[in-house]
Amino acid sequence: MNQKIREILSACQGRGWAMEPEAKEILRLSGVKTTEFLWARDARGAIRFANQIGYPVVVKVVSPEVVHKSDVGGVAVGVSGDEKLAEVYTAMSKIVGFSGIIVEEMVRGTELIVGMKLDQQFGPVILFGLGGTAVEIYKDVALRMAPIFDRDVDSMLKSIKAHPLLEGYRGSEPIHMETLKKMLLAFSDTVMELGAAVDSIDLNPVICNASGCVVTDARMMLSR
Ligand code: ADP
Ligand code: MG
Repeated sequence: MNQKIREILSACQGRGWAMEPEAKEILRLSGVKTTEFLWARDARGAIRFANQIGYPVVVKVVSPEVVHKSDVGGVAVGVSGDEKLAEVYTAMSKIVGFSGIIVEEMVRGTELIVGMKLDQQFGPVILFGLGGTAVEIYKDVALRMAPIFDRDVDSMLKSIKAHPLLEGYRGSEPIHMETLKKMLLAFSDTVMELGAAVDSIDLNPVICNASGCVVTDARMMLSR
């Protein structure tokens, strides 16, 4: 395993899970594309970065106490301007366990989920489906044992009911299939590299559009 990844995982060990910026850093190091982001510890740093990448930005709370950020008002999308960003920073700084914020580019497109769960019997199982909050409602997912290869990826993409959405449904743009396929293969490599150290991974959402695919949220639960 990459030394830097090992260091991040060991820093998360006591808590039992990797927060969004940590999980995204691990993904980045192993070749899975994430949003461009900064883990900012003060409003000034956040504002400087937002000006670098350009408004509007997405702002999210970083806290070891918060697993689902939107449940606690820890996600603000479409934040435009220094003043608004400073306001959001102040509001989020009141959230339990506050450990800074993520500032990142805002992405538009279809929300998908990519995940992994370590199964007692089968080892790591990879999940793919329609993402966002709809996940639990539709349960429209494909599961395959890791590692997965080209033909598995093709059959996973085709097997979900929402498949027409990926190809462009009633005038909506088709998503960039090649990058989605590459991402699933890279994710499979990541899963194999992490091995038994990680019990589950949730990339939800992965946002895909006509030009590409990017992980916008990530969480990793470590094995005991
Ligand atoms: P959590 O799942 O912890 O509540 P997320 O990071 O998934 O937090 O954010 C909640 C929702 O906000 C996502 O499902 C997505 O709709 C939106 N969102 C998050 N990050 C971005 C982004 N970079 N660009 C566009 N939308 C985003
Ligand atoms: Mg999420």
